[in-house]
Amino acid sequence: MPEPAAEIHARAVAAAIDGHLSAPAMTEWEIFPWEVVGGAIAPKALAAPGVEAPRAGEQGGEPCSSCAGFDPDTIVWEDEHWVLTAALEPSGLPLVLVLHTREHEDAGEIDDDLASEFGRISNRLVRIIQGLPGIGRLHVNRWGDGAEHFHVWFFARPAGFAQIKGSYAVEWDDILPPVDDAVRRADLHTVATKLANWGGHARA
Ligand SMILES: [Zn+2]
Repeated sequence: MPEPAAEIHARAVAAAIDGHLSAPAMTEWEIFPWEVVGGAIAPKALAAPGVEAPRAGEQGGEPCSSCAGFDPDTIVWEDEHWVLTAALEPSGLPLVLVLHTREHEDAGEIDDDLASEFGRISNRLVRIIQGLPGIGRLHVNRWGDGAEHFHVWFFARPAGFAQIKGSYAVEWDDILPPVDDAVRRADLHTVATKLANWGGHARA
């Protein structure tokens, strides 16, 4: 079961220097929208628009890594049409999962049967993961700005932290020290087993 909030807090306090955790790599990303100006945080100037670079899997983009095959060690659950993965290494939130179509399809292009399956799987994941002790919410995010191949993110945030809410939970995933991987893997096993009650195969 996920760590209690008090343990997450104790680990964060222990990892902090002068009360602050290290700034994650995202602060160096081009898309990071903030900078320090005169000692205060300010939005960066908006650059002029241009032509968007092709995403992975699109014409002219990098080859599709999903079509090249999923690393078996990342697969949590799968069936004929879907593959649910988790990163090899833990991050700051208790659970982060990605649901991919097996075939190369873009969001908005999957047929109604597949879209219905997506809705059912998503709903089950919300029910299963929000049912774990200490989980406040499972956020469901489709970005799709990096790769064309249909993939949707699921971010489980811990309960009880006033700061770890909404889209900022995604940033805390990179800010918080990584969770204990043995705890995470036990939770992934629970999720996979429960999801497989409706079909498919638990792999975690
Ligand atoms: Zn693909």
